[in-house]
Amino acid sequence: MASPGGKATPEPEDKARKTKGQGEVSGFRSFMDVALEEAQAAALRGEVPVGAVVVAPGGAVVARAGNRTRELCDPTAHAEVLAIRAACAAAGSVRLAGHDLYVTLEPCPICAGAISSARIARLYYGAPDLKSGGVAVGARVFSHPQCHHSPEVYDGIGAAEAEALLRGFFAARR
Ligand code: ZN
Repeated sequence: MASPGGKATPEPEDKARKTKGQGEVSGFRSFMDVALEEAQAAALRGEVPVGAVVVAPGGAVVARAGNRTRELCDPTAHAEVLAIRAACAAAGSVRLAGHDLYVTLEPCPICAGAISSARIARLYYGAPDLKSGGVAVGARVFSHPQCHHSPEVYDGIGAAEAEALLRGFFAARR
């Protein structure tokens, strides 16, 4: 305990929770629960089960969406993009300063680009996506020198539930 050695990275999640004020932990969890509901709903539509939620600075859910790529015949109709579009339309703005985005799966490069352009303040995501992710792997959009705005990123939130949904979905299709 005397030595802090071995800790390679800071613990941003604790810091975020501290700054969130009262009801921080339960409110924090409930937004990912909403994203997981959207992921479940997407699976029932035959879409890859990914869900996203945009939360305003005051803690209100301003948009929620699940994948609709098949339904809309749109390869960009990912949960994050649809949620950001709806939130921007509601706000009448191309930017969502101070907003948080919760998504059940690590965003791909398309979504990471949209998150950056929208100036999302904090990104909370569930399962890692080693195949198509663009945050911790692959393009690592937010770490790129060309990235004009990088949100605070917190991963692994509700990851087990998100992974179970994805596993169940793909297992059923084999
Ligand atoms: Zn995406």
